Amino acid sequence: MNRHDIMVIGGGPAGITLAKMLGKMDIAIIRPEKASMIYCAMPYVIEGLITHEDTLKSDGLVTDNGAVLIRDAVEHIDFDEKILRMTSGDAYEYGKLVIASGAVPFTPPVPGHELIGVMGFKTENDMNAIIRMVDDGLTRAVIVGAGAIGIELAQALKDRDVDVHLVDMANSILPNLIDENMSEQAYRELEESGMNIHLKVKVTEIRGDREAEGVILDTGEVIDLTGPEGKSGLVVFAAGTRPEISLVENSPVQVGRDGIIVNDRMETNLPDVYAVGDCVQFHSGITGETTSGKLATNAVPMAKILGFIFLGQDRHYPGFYNGAATKVGHLFIGGTGLTESAAVKAGYEVFTGYSAVTTKFPIIPGAKKKQMKLVVDRATHRVLGAQIVSEEPVIGCIDLITFAIQNESTVEDLSGLSYASQPHQSFYPAANLIVLAAEDIRKKISVPQPVA
Ligand SMILES: Cc1cc2nc3c(=O)[nH]c(=O)nc-3n(C[C@H](O)[C@H](O)[C@H](O)COP(=O)(O)OP(=O)(O)OC[C@H]3O[C@@H](n4cnc5c(N)ncnc54)[C@H](O)[C@@H]3O)c2cc1C
Repeated sequence: MNRHDIMVIGGGPAGITLAKMLGKMDIAIIRPEKASMIYCAMPYVIEGLITHEDTLKSDGLVTDNGAVLIRDAVEHIDFDEKILRMTSGDAYEYGKLVIASGAVPFTPPVPGHELIGVMGFKTENDMNAIIRMVDDGLTRAVIVGAGAIGIELAQALKDRDVDVHLVDMANSILPNLIDENMSEQAYRELEESGMNIHLKVKVTEIRGDREAEGVILDTGEVIDLTGPEGKSGLVVFAAGTRPEISLVENSPVQVGRDGIIVNDRMETNLPDVYAVGDCVQFHSGITGETTSGKLATNAVPMAKILGFIFLGQDRHYPGFYNGAATKVGHLFIGGTGLTESAAVKAGYEVFTGYSAVTTKFPIIPGAKKKQMKLVVDRATHRVLGAQIVSEEPVIGCIDLITFAIQNESTVEDLSGLSYASQPHQSFYPAANLIVLAAEDIRKKISVPQPVA
């Protein structure tokens, strides 16, 4: 029987990271797809900004350092005998097993969810199906979920002249990334683009014979999906993902509501069985409570921790901080840690601070606005989260705040940040976005505020 010392189920960012790090060992990566894909870029293929081919990753990412690539799917794991049985009929013996099987979109079981034209948005097949429908004259689409993925897809469809309805049960768009009061500009941006936005509503049913013809909301409103010549429409659920853990169901591997349970060395409860990436349940690095962290920027660091452990180092995964970003119209939006509403829900009493500067000296042509909201724990003054809305990229600043959160920095630490300034790259030396927001909070600390 074929055997590898390390076998990894999954060729996404987590699996590829392990292949790149451990190619000198006897490691094999198993994935069914012809090519791995940059999922984050799928909306931009639909929009026409880049090609499908641009999003396909080279197999060399897996094999260049010596890892073996197996194009197959695992059908069954025999944990006692340490054997993987594949769809092709092949079988492999493993020394250590890493499960990196990712996540799948969550489709609520509303009546009609099985109709043609109702789908998730995760795979190359999903993207191709949407492109086919658009090329075939799709006139109307309903996107359920006003998070980053839903909005990025909605904008791509709008750019292709599809009439788009964006539906979410939350009070505001991007509810996991930014608070309602930071979302207003982005909301206006979408509305001005002609998007129909339905907030605080749920989809209760999708109507149609074989194909999706209408979406019914809990307000009683019906969004008609039929276009000219009776063509039916598209309904995409971008309302979160669930871990792909079908291989470990009814097995001794412990799972929680958000995935395979691992410790901070990515070990499951079984010896020689590890899990990394979207299929894993883990805790917030801030609250210590289980929180969702289905991002490539969490999957890769988890895989790196495990890679370094296999290389003999003592490393530990600290938890999710969930720094993330998106682009809405011409706005760049980022968030990290806890929003104010998430912090309050987690039991914190918070201080919030605000700041606004321009992205260049205001006298330099092209200077754009940049705003921040900072969230701090009232008891310890620890930084809990931040949100930035700007007309220029925000990720550098978001990462800096994430680092502050990871290091348990306080608002006093942030107000003392030593920063750089240059006419083309920042506001005047007199002020800095982060320091201003921190000082805004320090003013409130010295003048005690009523608890919200
Ligand atoms: C539209 C979109 C936009 C996104 N944008 C961002 C972004 O901007 N930033 C960000 O950080 N994240 C983003 N993400 C999330 C990111 O893509 C995921 O977090 C990341 O892909 C998770 O990596 P993974 O390796 O854990 O799992 P996946 O990438 O899901 O890979 C899982 C792999 O396991 C394989 N597999 C599953 N079951 C089996 C089996 N039985 N046998 C063999 N192989 C199996 C799959 O086929 C796949 O190859 C986005 C996702 C989508 C869909």
